[in-house]
Amino acid sequence: MTASSPFSPATDTRPALLDAIGNTPLLPLRQIGHDLPDGVTLWVKAEHLNPGGSVKDRPARHMIEDGLRTGAYQPHHTLIDATSGNTGIAYAMIAAALNREVALALPENASAERKAVLRAYGAELILTDAMEGTDGAQARVQELVEAHPDRYFYPDQYSNNANWQAHYDTTAPEIWTQTHERVTHFVAGLGTTGTFTGVARRLKEYDDAITCIAMQPDTALHGLEGLKHLPTAHTPSIYDSSLADAQATCSTETAHAMTRRLAAEEGLLVGPSAGANVATALRHAHTLDAGHIVTILCDTGTRYLSDDLWSDAA
Ligand code: PMP
Repeated sequence: MTASSPFSPATDTRPALLDAIGNTPLLPLRQIGHDLPDGVTLWVKAEHLNPGGSVKDRPARHMIEDGLRTGAYQPHHTLIDATSGNTGIAYAMIAAALNREVALALPENASAERKAVLRAYGAELILTDAMEGTDGAQARVQELVEAHPDRYFYPDQYSNNANWQAHYDTTAPEIWTQTHERVTHFVAGLGTTGTFTGVARRLKEYDDAITCIAMQPDTALHGLEGLKHLPTAHTPSIYDSSLADAQATCSTETAHAMTRRLAAEEGLLVGPSAGANVATALRHAHTLDAGHIVTILCDTGTRYLSDDLWSDAA
């Protein structure tokens, strides 16, 4: 349970599902990291094992609990937000457990599997122009919220401090404990930037020598789902670029190749942004003499089975 839960233990209305979020395993990549220098270990935080299948369960829980606590999220409100999929799945899952309505705007080219999952949880989908990406979905939500301010609870994950605070309060302390306080490097791709900002901020408080590397796709085209190409997108207001000791880019091809290796060599069926994180972390790990480098497996691979990622794998 998060420290300041809005639910009263006396009334016991807190869905137990919320306590199944987080406390994910931290796994060493023994095969993929087999030729790293002695003393260098590459670790992955298995966020795909959260109940909603992604790293976004944590911020969705934090933003919803924050809204319940402050009163911004009232029983008659429909939760609305723009999401490339995983935050929406987490919102829809948690709202179902709370018996609340959800409406989600997402680009129409989001994967069929994702849309099916959202609909299964009972969410209303607002599909926006694929060419406008997540920025178009955000604009549509803003229009609706401005037109009907009393109808919606709009967490706005791109500017909501509870997004990065979820990782500051939970993901980073878990990494610190699970590495026995030995983590030296952290790598994460930037979407809303909540994962990077929250984890990096907390790790640097533990030890300001920890190197934090922010990764982006190398192109706006054929982007990696969940990640933003910041030169061509709005930079989320929660992003704190001063936490990034280095910037890295990753190509779609490299990310896909590593995603396939994670499944075949490590038994980890995850999505392409996880492949991008691991490829970036592995490249950096090869430049080290010693250290514990940690990155994130952002979501489950079962949502991408019909993607090019697998169809061009033969
Ligand atoms: N990968 C995937 C698959 C995601 O859905 C997201 C969330 N947009 C990210 C990476 C990036 O996480 P964050 O929003 O915390 O930057």
